[in-house]
Amino acid sequence: MRSLPLPSGATIPVLGQGTWQMGENAKARSQEIDALKFGIDLGMTLIDTAEMYGEGGAEEVVAEAIKGQRSRLFLVSKVYPHNATRRGTIQACDRSLKRLKTDYLDLYLLHWRGSVPLSETFESLLELRQAGKIRDFGVSNFDQDDLMEARQFDQNLTATDQVLYNLSRRGIEWDVLPWCRQQGIPVMAYSPIEQGRLLTNKALGAIAARLNVTPAQVAIAWLLRQENVVVIPKSSRRDRIQENYAALDIHLSRADLDALDQAFPPPVRSQPLEML
Ligand code: NDP
Repeated sequence: MRSLPLPSGATIPVLGQGTWQMGENAKARSQEIDALKFGIDLGMTLIDTAEMYGEGGAEEVVAEAIKGQRSRLFLVSKVYPHNATRRGTIQACDRSLKRLKTDYLDLYLLHWRGSVPLSETFESLLELRQAGKIRDFGVSNFDQDDLMEARQFDQNLTATDQVLYNLSRRGIEWDVLPWCRQQGIPVMAYSPIEQGRLLTNKALGAIAARLNVTPAQVAIAWLLRQENVVVIPKSSRRDRIQENYAALDIHLSRADLDALDQAFPPPVRSQPLEML
């Protein structure tokens, strides 16, 4: 799997697995664990989770799925903004590590911007990094002005901005994406198939049919073709994980990209960052 460099010198795989809505339902648990394991076996060793998902339940599911293979993995978790105080960030990270049954995270993100001053959160993130509890840190749902503000406190170490980005949500192409590219920061595209809503789009369906692939694969391949984008689709089903993984091998021609631009026009002006 291709990977991208982070400012620290570490690398992050370009395709991983999301976990939102996992760990919420005891009946689905074994299927979720099986799905994550299946994805890891295929090579999708980046797992994205958060203390918010299932209020810790998703992290516990991840812990089961990664048993015995921690060293192969790139684990990402996130702190709630209301926990992101000087002490709260450290405590939240410790709780996540405990639930994940590991002693470090590869990447720890501020889930979105709240009312705690960024200087406070970044002090804690730097402390966690120094203590070896996290290898890198970053932000999520940060618009360009938030990113620029963060730069004052992050010692140029912010490793990523995880944002809503897919064919139907292209606003970041105006500012956040080029800014991150210029700074050498990968963008993590969440909800790459718009939680499934993209899949019924007629134009996308027509392009997928012409290429003999699925709409989800076109949507993921479209994101993956870009030089600084990491993609984290979520599925609890083996067949869909296999399908999403195979998007790595899809090449979109100039004509395909033009057709996608027609159906999903790029931004023509700055717009506020969208989030789910
Ligand atoms: P996705 O765009 O990844 O879509 C997930 C949904 O699509 C699920 O319902 C899944 O169902 C279904 N699905 C997955 N693959 C296929 C396929 N090939 N064909 C048909 N349906 C499919 O949405 P998410 O919102 O889950 O985003 C991905 C990840 O990004 C999250 O899980 C989370 O880790 C992260 N995220 C981060 C946010 C943030 O604020 N930082 C916000 C939102 C997401 P099923 O499981 O039944 O297959």
